[in-house]
Amino acid sequence: MNPGRLLVVDDDEAVCQVMAIMLTDLGYEVTTETDGRNVLGILREGKFDVVLLDIVMPELDGLELIEQIREHFNVLPILVVTGYGSAELTVDAMRRGATDFVTKPVDSPLLDLRIRRSFDLEQTRRMANTDGLTGLYNHRYLQERLKQEVERAERYGCPLSVVMGDLDHFKNFNDTFGHPRGDKLLIAVSAALRQLSRASDVLARYGGEEFTMILPETTAEEARILAERARQRIAALELASEHNEAQKVTVSLGIASHVPGTSSERLIEAADAALYAAKHAGRNCVSLAVQEVTDDTDAGEDASN
Ligand code: GH3
Ligand code: MG
Ligand code: MG
Repeated sequence: MNPGRLLVVDDDEAVCQVMAIMLTDLGYEVTTETDGRNVLGILREGKFDVVLLDIVMPELDGLELIEQIREHFNVLPILVVTGYGSAELTVDAMRRGATDFVTKPVDSPLLDLRIRRSFDLEQTRRMANTDGLTGLYNHRYLQERLKQEVERAERYGCPLSVVMGDLDHFKNFNDTFGHPRGDKLLIAVSAALRQLSRASDVLARYGGEEFTMILPETTAEEARILAERARQRIAALELASEHNEAQKVTVSLGIASHVPGTSSERLIEAADAALYAAKHAGRNCVSLAVQEVTDDTDAGEDASN
């Protein structure tokens, strides 16, 4: 795949025009914007392959804009266009999530090369974080992201919940209908979870038939409502089959919420223990981890005991 649609952000209208001409000549479809404050809105409305961003703009700190874009568009390539003598600024931009940079005045073949490279880099990054079957995030990314979300919850004192789901008797499903049907069902389950969740939620396939949702800014009670919806939605899923047999499955879910002073590993353990309790309670149900208030000494017992 090649990059096609570009958004060029520069507060200087003349620079925007020159860039637009150069990039259109190179075969790109170009949108320009001079006000950094409009960028998030534009990105939400249209699908762009690469953003070219001037980081010195009067209305809005370009560096802050990079962070804002990253918060909402995890894998969108951001190519920073910097002026002479701004090495420190460029390094800062890269630290905050820019993909690559070019220096003004830009040269057409070099710009083309950097746009393609930024695009390829983010594609590779995306693939490294994605589960091949379902398109959800993979286990590796989940671990990394959960650590970040726990740090954020600690710093700002905002709620954070984790839901773990495991399909019930899925081995039987495979044995009865075959693995290809099992795979189809895993894809259908992923799509259902995606439909239910918010853009800021992180959905991952934890392992074979296990799913995990990281829910930032979400209390245990709110997570319970979502988990219950997911349970019902999955129970109602039915794969169309040639022989009219009901190819259905149910899910058991466990929820744990962040308690200040506890690690991401503990949070996952607590959610897993709650999931185990849901299995024990008869499956096709939701269980909430009983959380004790622990401190930094790490002396607390498993949250679900
Ligand atoms: P439980 O209700 O206790 O969770 O029972 P279970 O059968 O779901 O659990 P178990 O751990 O015994 O088996 C998990 C099964 O999930 C084994 C395998 O058949 C299936 N599975 C795991 N990964 C995949 C996959 O990628 N595709 C398919 N089709 N099946 C998978
Ligand atoms: Mg399992
Ligand atoms: Mg299972």
